[in-house]
Amino acid sequence: MTTFEDLKKILVSNYADEDINLVIRAFHFASEAHRGQKRRTGEDYIYHAIATAYNLAKMKMDLPSIAAGLLHDVPEDTDFTLEDVKNVFGKEIAELVAGVTKLGTLKYRGLERYAENLRKMFLAMAKDLRIIIIKLADRLHNMETLDGVREEKRLRIAQETLEIFAPIANRLGMFELKTRLEDLAFPYVYPQEYAWVKHLVQDRLKTETRYIEKIQKIAQKDLNKHNVNYLHIKGRVKNLFSLYQKLLRKGKDLNKIYDLIALRIIVPDVTDCYSVLGIIHKRWTPLKGRVKDYIAQPKPNGYRSLHTSVFTEFGKIAEIQIRSQEMDEEAEYGIAAHSRYKEIKNLGNKKTQPTWVKHLLDIQKTITDNAEFIKHIKNDLFLNRIFVFTPKGDVIELPENATPLDFAYHIHTDIGNRCVGAKVNEQMTALTHQLKSGDVIEILTDKNRKKPNADWLNIVITSAAKEKIRNQLRK
Ligand code: MN
Repeated sequence: MTTFEDLKKILVSNYADEDINLVIRAFHFASEAHRGQKRRTGEDYIYHAIATAYNLAKMKMDLPSIAAGLLHDVPEDTDFTLEDVKNVFGKEIAELVAGVTKLGTLKYRGLERYAENLRKMFLAMAKDLRIIIIKLADRLHNMETLDGVREEKRLRIAQETLEIFAPIANRLGMFELKTRLEDLAFPYVYPQEYAWVKHLVQDRLKTETRYIEKIQKIAQKDLNKHNVNYLHIKGRVKNLFSLYQKLLRKGKDLNKIYDLIALRIIVPDVTDCYSVLGIIHKRWTPLKGRVKDYIAQPKPNGYRSLHTSVFTEFGKIAEIQIRSQEMDEEAEYGIAAHSRYKEIKNLGNKKTQPTWVKHLLDIQKTITDNAEFIKHIKNDLFLNRIFVFTPKGDVIELPENATPLDFAYHIHTDIGNRCVGAKVNEQMTALTHQLKSGDVIEILTDKNRKKPNADWLNIVITSAAKEKIRNQLRK
């Protein structure tokens, strides 16, 4: 159980003393408001508020967000109103609390509720991304204490976590949070599959742990010998839910999975990353095509790291991930970390909003039919993503199974409309070709061509491309 003292400890080390008073006041207000209330787990309700604020403090979110974390259930669950919160804490905090409260009030069941929930999420994002982050911090604690909840409600919450909250955390670059949410929801949503995966990896995990410890010792010695600074070196077990998904893609064969445990090395800065990679490759031969430089070419969601898979003297393969402290914090806290390093103070600022948020907001405005809306969202947000390149080396992110036409329309509507052919990795390919991560795509155009073919609607898979083709055909 997290106490207010735990929360204060983090705050004292990260913020100025006089500013922390805001959070202390919020704590006293929330304690008073929730006095006497208990959660089904038997705990005093205030501990849920503290845990939510604690999660936000760990992400180093700003103090108004942390205060709102403490107050987030006050208007919904106590005698105090939003107006009271506003009178005591002002407009900014009241608006954050109002946003979180709105996300929590669900009226619909099934498909309707799902769509409704998504819409609320996107509207909240548009207003202020901090609302979503507070909601995620709240959800994390709810998932950690899910055992205390009624059974039918449990499944609903876990499902929602897997289908909505985890993908959103992922899109905000909060990978650690995403994997934690997934692993907490997994046993509730897919109990049998969970039991299967857990049983499957049990023995392998023991041998793999011993193996990665050996690798770690050798790597550590090498790094010390070359006087390379590292802050942290440790084996990291793949989270169960991603392992389950990967197993499904690999014919349920555990032997085809090389990254059950990866060795992760954290260093002070970027140049150290490459020094470490050099030392690792001097010791062990890398597998062809498995060296990935996400530092020079980050994933569009911001992920940066060096990955390599090497053959070791034990006749086995090891995956090694190298990143700087800053990259590691970014991987953990995503967009919240950016607000620190890049000094984007206001996450709600339209200018700093990721393009995919803007795009989803467009969809949410134009599509009123719920079933149609979900279809679009599933395509654009929840499908697995691939990363392809323009001939100039710009990274473009598309959903899995995207075609050169999706790529063309993603670049520009005119390029799509005038498309007459495509080269993938310098080879002429059909427009129906399914792109893969790492492909370099060149679109051939004819400036006299004005209209797309109607049957392109059956080829493209992104809703943006479909929309643009339909528009052009109507003209
Ligand atoms: Mn809550």
